[in-house]
Amino acid sequence: MRFSEEYRDPKIARQLIGRILAESRTPVRLMEVCGTHTMAIFRSGIRSVLPETISLLSGPGCPVCVTDPGEIDAFIEIARTEGVITATFGDLVRVPGSVSSLAQERAAGADIRVVYSTVDALELARRHPERRVVFLGVGFETTAPTVAASIAAARDEGLDNYSVFSAHKRVLPALFALMSMDIRIDGFLLPGHVSLVIGAEAYRPLFDRHRIPCVIAGFEPGDILDGIHRLVGQIEGRRPDLVNAYPRAVSDQGNPRARALMDAVFSPEDARWRGMGRIPRSGMAIREAFQDHDARRVLGIVPRDVPEPKGCDCGEVIVGRKTPPECPLFRRACSPAHPVGPCMVSSEGTCAAYYRYHPASVGERA
Ligand code: SF4
Repeated sequence: MRFSEEYRDPKIARQLIGRILAESRTPVRLMEVCGTHTMAIFRSGIRSVLPETISLLSGPGCPVCVTDPGEIDAFIEIARTEGVITATFGDLVRVPGSVSSLAQERAAGADIRVVYSTVDALELARRHPERRVVFLGVGFETTAPTVAASIAAARDEGLDNYSVFSAHKRVLPALFALMSMDIRIDGFLLPGHVSLVIGAEAYRPLFDRHRIPCVIAGFEPGDILDGIHRLVGQIEGRRPDLVNAYPRAVSDQGNPRARALMDAVFSPEDARWRGMGRIPRSGMAIREAFQDHDARRVLGIVPRDVPEPKGCDCGEVIVGRKTPPECPLFRRACSPAHPVGPCMVSSEGTCAAYYRYHPASVGERA
């Protein structure tokens, strides 16, 4: 099926559901690798219309959730540093570290400001030349270009009191890492937003190595159903392929300007992911040329090895080994009002999605 404006048409969605029901025979586990997909799937009720043969797994696609516990503690150390204004996106504030959270630090007097973009963070640095503004850089290739632009702008402007703590992650190395873990994945619903930057062909090495069905999908219900239908078709027909089902936004090469900006400011480095450990070249270090704006060098703060919160299964949820209802704390000690792990905090977290959209989700299939 070709999509232009039809992706919002309920009639098309119903047709796709009918085709999926008719064509899906083999039990499959499909992973969506994007927090926005996870929320869109829950919000639209797609899980409830799929046949028993299809299990949807939520992968490591929520940027706050995959941020390593050691990085969360590093953020707290930054917030406790004398003279620092910590600028952050809102989702990070309530993520528990090993001893505290940014919310608790703010209540104790730390100067932590929630910003909506790096433009706001740069403006804070301009308005407070006597203070050091540190932006907490969390996210994938979707957000990294704008953070890179802020670092370049600070250098060009001589804004020496602006720096970034880069905890950015690259999606492709994580997909390779998933394929080497003991997790059964029969197909990937690939992230539309990240693909917009890195391009459809960025996944070619993954597909060529593993021959796993891969479909890049958009975020409307029709887009997601189309993606699932294409994955089912590839699996049932034993014709794995790498397909861009979101061509209205994603090109083969992605956004060359955004990638050039990202590459000019960041270089790949090994990085730790919650639930996945250290993954080669999956992080983004700030290059030497911009070291005056690298909060790790400026403040000398380095993430340490920190365990998961006690009893929290976020690490297992992030890689699709467990569903949130399988965590003993789900709906008991852990809820959006009192989150134990990041998957319950983030607006893109799998636990938050289950909690909000599946009130009776205990014991439910993935
Ligand atoms: S329910 Fe809470 S404790 Fe359990 S995995 Fe999710 S966030 Fe962690």
